[in-house]
Amino acid sequence: MQHSSITSSSGSYQKAVELLGLKPEIAKALEMPDRELTVEVPFRLDSGKVESLVGFRVQHNNTRGPFKGGIRYHHHVDLAEVRSLAALMTWKTSLLDIPYGGGKGGIQIDTSKYSRNEMERLSRRFFRAIDPFIGPNIDIPAPDVNTNAQVMGWFMDEYSQTHGYTPACVTGKPLELGGSEGREHATGKGTAITVRETSKNYDVDLENATVVVQGFGNVGSFAAKFLDDYGCKIIAVSDVTGGVHDPNGLDVPSLFDYNYEHRTIDGCGQGQKLTNEELLALECDYLIPAALGGAINEKNVDTINCKIVIEAANGPVTPEAADVLWSKKVPIIPDILTNAGGVTVSYFEWVQNLQQFKWELEEVDTKLETKMVKAFDEVYAIKQEKNVPMRIASFMVAIDRVARSYELRGV
Ligand code: GLU
Repeated sequence: MQHSSITSSSGSYQKAVELLGLKPEIAKALEMPDRELTVEVPFRLDSGKVESLVGFRVQHNNTRGPFKGGIRYHHHVDLAEVRSLAALMTWKTSLLDIPYGGGKGGIQIDTSKYSRNEMERLSRRFFRAIDPFIGPNIDIPAPDVNTNAQVMGWFMDEYSQTHGYTPACVTGKPLELGGSEGREHATGKGTAITVRETSKNYDVDLENATVVVQGFGNVGSFAAKFLDDYGCKIIAVSDVTGGVHDPNGLDVPSLFDYNYEHRTIDGCGQGQKLTNEELLALECDYLIPAALGGAINEKNVDTINCKIVIEAANGPVTPEAADVLWSKKVPIIPDILTNAGGVTVSYFEWVQNLQQFKWELEEVDTKLETKMVKAFDEVYAIKQEKNVPMRIASFMVAIDRVARSYELRGV
């Protein structure tokens, strides 16, 4: 399910290429990844035994700046998935007009089976394996599914052992190690800003809009929190253990705190319990899939009962499902716009590291706001002008920018 979801974007990619009238040789060059690394990651278990896992880093395109993108730890990770996600990063950084290309990495692992010490040894060994291809002007990793600020701290330390203190080699670090104010909540805040802008343009009353959030990790939990602040009614949220539903609206601040402490919403004591599939089928204004790719697919798309889908995860709506939703006039606000807040504040973190200067939270949040609104407006203008879905309009803005840089640089 994972792969079909993310390669998903290729239908929209092709359509955007066609509409832009891109030269076939340029379209081909932009589709192909620049470099793909597959590495062995041997590490010592607490028992003393050695285990070997497989890790990947795909560098898709660096026409507009160093490769940029997260590293995920998940049992579904494979080269095909990482390749698709790396390409999405190229379009995301271009869409937000930040000076990066796109990359992605991952390790195929079930993280629940390993201790913290084992995760540290594994993370360090992986970073050492990809080190020759990493650096502030080469490729800058960041957190993704099941990786966090602590993992970025280990990466930064490992890199700095051989290259000297280099915080700009990775973003999403702890504040104490050169992380940025506002990075932790950036993706969720960007998602909330996107919903707010969508409301203005799609004539939905933001105050009291009903919202369902699938996935209550870093992205979903902060998105719910900021949307609650905007006055939306969050009627259901879920994580891997299942969901909770209250048609009158959940108490988001206490749910957020519970989840922060317990790392799950299970046992939070709010609302009625329901499964993830039931949650996706709830009637609402905004359905926000914020977990993994392929959440809305051929099998369940007919159950979807929302006004608008907000793609907070990467690739949560498969191409087949997108076609069905469009035929029912359900707009999809695409991932490369909706979840771009994370990489945008990663960019601010990198700039601060290079300047060896720290910005206040307010400055970071204001700059994020400006970037998100500008990107939304650009995409919406193309959508209106060309009469295409937001997903295709996003690709048009993003691909055009990379293609023009590509031609100007020359081969
Ligand atoms: N993993 C996040 C994403 O998919 C953040 C990437 C970054 O900050 O480089 O956008």
